[in-house]
Formats: sequence, structure tokens, C-alpha cells
Amino acid sequence: MDINNRLSRCESWYRMLDMFMQENTPSIDEVIKKICEKVKQFIPVQYTGIYYYDAWKNGYSLKTDDSALEKMAVETLPASIVAKEDPWEAGKELFLSTSSLQAMLIPLRDEEKKVGFLFTAADYFSDWCRREANSIAEEISGQLRALSNYIHTAKTNYNNQILYQVTSSFHASINTKEVLEEVIATLKDVYPGFDYYLFLSQEFPGADDLPTKELIYNDNVTNRVSVHAFLTGDVQYEQLAEACESNLYIPLKGKQGVYGVLQICASTVITFPAEDVEFISLLANEAGNAMENARLYQQSKQLIEDLQLINETSHTLNSNLRLIETTTFMNRQIKDKFGAEEIGFILFKEDSQDEYEVLDGSTDYFLSRSAKQFLGNTLELLKRQHDAVFIGDFSIKYPEIRLPYHSVMAIPMVQSKQVKGAIFVLHPDAYYFSFEAFKLIQSLVHHSTLAFVNSMLREQLEHLVITDYLTSLYSRKYLDERLQEHLSEDEQGAFLLIDIDDFKKFNDTYGHELGDELIIQVATIIKGHLGAEDFAARWGGEELAVYLPNASTEDGMDTAHQLVKQVEAFTEPTVTISIGVSYWNKGQEQHSDNVFDRADEALYQAKELGKNCVVKAKCIGEPK
Ligand code: GH3
Ligand code: MG
Ligand code: MG
Repeated sequence: MDINNRLSRCESWYRMLDMFMQENTPSIDEVIKKICEKVKQFIPVQYTGIYYYDAWKNGYSLKTDDSALEKMAVETLPASIVAKEDPWEAGKELFLSTSSLQAMLIPLRDEEKKVGFLFTAADYFSDWCRREANSIAEEISGQLRALSNYIHTAKTNYNNQILYQVTSSFHASINTKEVLEEVIATLKDVYPGFDYYLFLSQEFPGADDLPTKELIYNDNVTNRVSVHAFLTGDVQYEQLAEACESNLYIPLKGKQGVYGVLQICASTVITFPAEDVEFISLLANEAGNAMENARLYQQSKQLIEDLQLINETSHTLNSNLRLIETTTFMNRQIKDKFGAEEIGFILFKEDSQDEYEVLDGSTDYFLSRSAKQFLGNTLELLKRQHDAVFIGDFSIKYPEIRLPYHSVMAIPMVQSKQVKGAIFVLHPDAYYFSFEAFKLIQSLVHHSTLAFVNSMLREQLEHLVITDYLTSLYSRKYLDERLQEHLSEDEQGAFLLIDIDDFKKFNDTYGHELGDELIIQVATIIKGHLGAEDFAARWGGEELAVYLPNASTEDGMDTAHQLVKQVEAFTEPTVTISIGVSYWNKGQEQHSDNVFDRADEALYQAKELGKNCVVKAKCIGEPK
């Protein structure tokens, strides 16, 4: 053996390797090419190549500078032979021959680690050549191993740098789309040969320019592996030999859950090396964490907005608004916040769960005739289920009820365990309102019901104060106040004072109860006669009063005569009335001070004249 030969060879291997390691990212293919060239300088062989372990193939692939060898190797040496244990077990070269050439396959191992095979071919291998080839194999094994370790370290280092960069940029981002874009860009950079897709759950609707696919849970053919990865949170592999492709599914995991799955597609059947899977998983986990942060941020932002809305609404409603102001305000809030198209405020009538009233401030649809069936049915449903109604597509759920709106929310207003009414929110599109919107609006209604009920009670109380309990006409005090307003603002008007004739006798004959009933009959006849501006009050006992704003004396007298006739004609048992009519007019100084007194005087005269008649009061200055 030529020691000098060996020494000079080792030196040249060493120099070569050293040169490669100066480079940032040395390529193993380039190194092998150089080695092959050198081998041919040292021993008389025609072709040289190296079968080198390739983690992506989980096997050995031939690398050479010599395309002829590649061709020959493919023809004569099926790649499978190198995967067999025989050459390793024998621990020495394996001879193969073709019709024209001899080939030799020498295992390359370094401290028991299998590095690959040196493959050479020549017309003839002398013993010397065989020995030298084995020596060379021994020499380059260590070198290749060292290089492979170096490349591995360099790659790990590079990947760590990338992970660090990406992670820091994720921490600065609350934008899920940006995070996902960055993940894909990074992977395309590190592993350019693959296609990338994202399976996202519904809460992250895919941005148009991202290669997203939707996770479909109940689809058991396509998508199955991705769903499995999503549900288990574990990496999944898929090799489709027929379609000649391999897929890797990596869950995008945060601390609280899985937010999607990253799919990596290779258009060959390959094995994803554990180390690379680990790197991609780390990247995916960072993305998962970033998505989680983004989601939590959005959620807390939303929560704060919701609380502000509820706070603002309660605050405004509790500032003693009138009912119409309350409904108008709520209407605007619900329209602005939820994009609702129709909003209805429904109140059940006192002590009745069947009769209801559509409050002013509701949108037009609720006042229309066609809303009746829908409202009746939905209110029934509310009462039955004692809970709010949330329907994504009304036409599917209740095809028998015609409703031009698909999305329906109906939230009961409950106070002291009693359903006082409901707020309806509609939109023409199906599934328009999110479940979050539904929950928020429930909360909003819950917080505003008390204010609603208060406005309502206050208005009922006000009504009660100005209304006579028996006849439902206004109280004398209210008429008095309204009259003062008219006297100071109008030009003229007529006042009628009405007294039931011989009512004492009526009471004696029929009893007090029927007497009351008669007063109601007379009041009803009067109400039926009033114009929109006119108003009537119970003046006291069986005396009633009517004021006709802007009426002339003639108008007043006409109305009075009609009332006298009607009362006689339509009361049962029949009673009659007498009326004193006073008139005032700004220009003629028919002053308002004694409008009441003059009417009273005229009424007295009517009684004197035999009752069941009308007397016009004298003007000021007129002789009695
Ligand atoms: P006149 O034709 O002169 O008016 O005779 P009258 O009997 O109606 O006399 P007057 O108006 O002085 O008497 C009022 C009577 O009406 C006294 C009372 O018995 C009766 N009355 C007053 N308020 C009520 C009421 O709220 N219900 C009933 N049933 N009767 C009343
Ligand atoms: Mg009287
Ligand atoms: Mg009377």
C-alpha cells in the first residue's frame, strides 16, 4: 500500500471539505460531485457515484458527476439493492457485473453510522484498484459524515433564526391574516417544492388571497385527515401512492385550542423527516398562538364595545324618557349596532296575554296588516318556550307563515317574572344575525326592560290622573288647564255645560248603579260627537262639559242641539239633558274669564225653560 498516496489523498479531502465549509450553505450535491471527480483521479475507474442517505426519501439516492453512470446504475442496479441489509452485513464491497462493465458498491460507514455507498464501474478492477477503492471509501466516509453534521447544524441554526424572526413578528401582530401569510411565505422559502393550504374553522373566514379550504366536519371522504388533525391536535401524514402525492397536516395549535390545520402537499411519494416536521410544527404552533391572541384581542375588544353599548343604552333609558322616546332610541341603537331592517316594540295589554299593542317607534312593517299572523304566532311561541326566539331562516322553519324577512329575533321583556311584551328584530337575508348579536341584544333588552316598563307605567299614571274613572272623559282639572291654553292662544271657541235632567228622580226610580250606567251612556254619546281637536270632561256629578276649540257660536249651538237630540233618542232608560252654551271671541272682547259662569247661567235658564233644551249664554254687556 502506498502510504504517500493515502496521505496526499487525505490532505486533498480535507482541503476540499474545508473549502465547502467556508460557504454559508454548502450543498451536499456539489461536494459529492467534487469527490467523484477526485476518485477518478486516484483510481482507474470509468464511472463514480455515491448513494447518499436522503431523509425525504427515507432511502439512498444516487448522486454523481457522471450522467453515464447514472444511466448505467439505473439499468443494472435497481436502487432497492442499496436499501437491503446485505452490503452492510458483509461489511465489504459488493460486485455486480454487466455485459460490458464491472461495478462495485462499497458501504460507507463512520463509527457504525451508515453514510451511504461508493459506487464505481470499470472494465476491470485489479486487486490494487479494489484495495485503493476501499481505502478511499474509508477516507471519505468520515468526511461526508462531518459534512452532513455541519450541514445539519447550519440548517438547524437557519431554522431557529427563522423561527425567532417569525415569532417576534407574530407577537407584534393581532391580525390573523398577516400571521398566516407570513407562515406560508416562510415555508415556501424554506421548502420551495411544496404546495400549501390552510384549513380554517369558521371563526376565521378565509381571506381571499390566502389558499384556504374550509374544515368540513361531517364530510367523511375528502378532508378526513385534516379534520382528524384538527380534532386530535396531532400531526397527520397521508401518502397517496396512486395519485403519487404525499400530504402533511399540521394543526395550528394555541394554548386553549386548535384554530386550523396547515396542509403541505408534495407531488411525489415522500417521507417527511421528523426534524423538518418538528420545525414546521414549531412554526405552526407559533401561528396558532398568534391566532389565539388575535382572537382573544378581538373578543375582548368586542366585549368592551358591547358593555359600552349596554351601559350607554341603560344610562339613556334610565333618564326618564317618554315611551316614544324610549322606543325611538332603542330603534336607532338596534339599527346601528345590528343592521336590523325592521324593529317592533310589542306590549301586552294590561292583564291580558292575548291582546297586544304595537308601540309607536316600531317600524312600518309591524303596523301593517300582514304582520298580524307573524306576530300572533311568534308571541305565542315566546310565551310557550319562555325564552327568546332566534331563527336563521324563518321560511324554512315556518313555511306556512308568510314573512318577507328570513332572519328573526324576538326577545321577551320580562319584569317581575311577567312577560310584559317583546322586541322584534328582522332582516330580509337569511342567517343575517350572528349568535353573538343575539346574545348581545338579549342583554340589551334585559337591561332596558325596567326603563320600558317605567316609561309605560308613568304614562299610564299620567293618563289616570287626567281621566275620570267612571266615564273615561278627562277630569275637570285637565279640561280647565287645556282650556286656559286655548284661551290664551286661539281666536275663539265654544264651551258647553251639560246637565242630566231630573237625575235625582232617575236615581230614586232605577237605583244609583243604573244612574252611573246612564252617565256612561251620555258620556259615550258625547265622545262620539267630538272632532279631533274637541275634548270633553266630567265636570262633576251628572254634569259634563265640552270645549270646541276655534268653534263659532253657531258651531257650538249645532253641536249642543245634536247632543240633546241624541241623548233623548239613544239613552236607555231614556233621559234628557239641558245645555248652556257660552262663546268667546278675542276681537269682540267676549272675554274668557267668565266662559264657565256664563255657560252655567245659560244652563240654569235652560232648566227654567223646561229642560231638554239648549240656551245660548249672553255676551258681556248684554242685558240679562
Ligand atoms: P235637574 O233637572 O234640575 O238637574 O234635576 P236633578 O235631579 O238632576 O238635580 P241636580 O242636578 O241638582 O241633582 C244632581 C243629582 O244627581 C244628585 C245625585 O242624586 C245625582 N248624582 C250626582 N252625581 C251622581 C253620580 O255620580 N251617580 C249617580 N247615580 N247619581 C249622581
Ligand atoms: Mg246637576
Ligand atoms: Mg241634573
